[in-house]
Amino acid sequence: MEGREVYLDNSATTKVCKAALEAAVLGMEKEYGNAASLHKKGWEAQKLLDAAKKGFARLLGCEEQELYFTSGATESNNLSILGGVVGAKRRGRRVVTTTMEHASVLACMEELEAQGYEVVRIGPKEDGGFDPADFYSAVDENTVLVSCMMVNNETGLLFPVEEIGRAVKRKNPQVLFHVDAVQGFMKLPLSLKRSAIDLLSASGHKIFAPKGIGLLFIRKGVRIKPLFFGGGQQNGIRVGTENVPLASAFYAAAEELAKNRKEHYALYEMLKSRLLERVGEIPEVSVNSKDSCVPYIVNLSVAKIRSEIMLHYLEQFGIYVSSGSACSKGAKSHVLAAFGYPAERIDTALRVSFSPETTIDDIDYFAEKLKEGSTSLMKMK
Ligand code: PMP
Repeated sequence: MEGREVYLDNSATTKVCKAALEAAVLGMEKEYGNAASLHKKGWEAQKLLDAAKKGFARLLGCEEQELYFTSGATESNNLSILGGVVGAKRRGRRVVTTTMEHASVLACMEELEAQGYEVVRIGPKEDGGFDPADFYSAVDENTVLVSCMMVNNETGLLFPVEEIGRAVKRKNPQVLFHVDAVQGFMKLPLSLKRSAIDLLSASGHKIFAPKGIGLLFIRKGVRIKPLFFGGGQQNGIRVGTENVPLASAFYAAAEELAKNRKEHYALYEMLKSRLLERVGEIPEVSVNSKDSCVPYIVNLSVAKIRSEIMLHYLEQFGIYVSSGSACSKGAKSHVLAAFGYPAERIDTALRVSFSPETTIDDIDYFAEKLKEGSTSLMKMK
């Protein structure tokens, strides 16, 4: 079909949904005041901001005062980790994380190491899953923070974050537990009320809101040292004029996803099973995502065809996928390496990620072109 577009890179970013777009336009065109202004325009903006925080608090089972808007999950992760350890400096200098984190967490860990912190990185078990007992063992009386993602962005691996958090707290209740929830946010159930999570990061552009808006949950009583200093907005934790249009858009997108979460999940399961069935017919394809991975991210390798070559081949037909994670732009995947896959499998990996708009027809089209590519590109070798 001429001009057909099949966007299967929703873990990299998403198209902005109508509800988010409308909310952003309202906050930019009509109710565009500065939330700190004392007049009616300011009050209108403050109302939008309050509604977004209140809405998120309801969706997440926390209090409005525990939520902060940031510029994205990179900032939320930095603030949680770098700000969290400073807040807990007197308690110790050891931090625990995993080998599969996003670059924005990995880089914070490297920064902490440069500052003299000891960083312990936990890897997966032989079956690819993470064991809460390993976190229990890694935490000691000198540990100040544990950071673990909810869903891996490259493979869809689901981390048992609640169990990990409980194991961590059992060993040392003082430890701050941070979760990078970006790839699970509004797709998986999450309730912070009785959770072991102290800090949680999320990003708007992964859930059909615009880029440049993020959320950070900081549990009441947890001390975080701000990274920026300025006008005292958001309790001084995250200063700078609040981005009301995008905060409002973020909540509008979240609300819609939350409403349809179960239907979307069922759709993703159906799409994944169709995809696995179809790529199972291509002998060159191996699936890198494990059974325990979420259904909306599937990582696979096509023998002997480098990721970028296949990615651009598919692009000719309007199919968009990713080679590993979009953020690492072609760098060798540390995630697939942590799974123990050989170099050839890592160099040929593709990530396919769905949205609620993805159809069975899209999957069949993708599988058909992948099959064609795997034979025609081999011939060109
Ligand atoms: N964490 C994870 C797991 C991600 O997938 C991403 C985005 N690729 C981020 C953090 C960073 O989010 P943002 O783009 O909002 O900075």
